[in-house]
Amino acid sequence: MPRKSGPSYSRDGFAVLTQSEDPTSPLFVKTLAHEVAHFWWNKAATDNWQDWLNESFAEFSALMAIEHIFGKEMKDKFLMEFESLSSTLSPLYQFQRSDKNVHNLMYKKGPVILEAFSANIKEAEFKRWLKMVSKGDITTTEKLFLLTEKAYGEVQRKYLEELLNK
Ligand SMILES: [Zn+2]
Repeated sequence: MPRKSGPSYSRDGFAVLTQSEDPTSPLFVKTLAHEVAHFWWNKAATDNWQDWLNESFAEFSALMAIEHIFGKEMKDKFLMEFESLSSTLSPLYQFQRSDKNVHNLMYKKGPVILEAFSANIKEAEFKRWLKMVSKGDITTTEKLFLLTEKAYGEVQRKYLEELLNK
């Protein structure tokens, strides 16, 4: 469902998109893919820092769609921008909802962290991890750590923890 202005969002299997962009532009496709990705990434609470499990994973999934449609260079272009916007931010781990950088923490730093984590394990394994996270009852970051340790061992769990505390 398109709208003329205001933010895009999705609820319970339908997405509302702001129609201010050229529908073939990477930015529009990223927004659309992000909202569709929330059909899977919607299990964590949205009123505290655990919301990164919804927003960062949805945004990262959108980057995967960007790579699929526009190629790796376009995805890397977004990631470089995300990196520059998040390099000076405090850790994602237990951030305060009142932090003025909440948006950049969840939408820029989170995807950068997931990219770094993906680079540390084989592509097929990473996709399997994403599937397990989306299918599992991963409502908190602690549950994400436990699942990661169970699937890939303590080293990967610690690496993920480290990334979130950076
Ligand atoms: Zn979102």
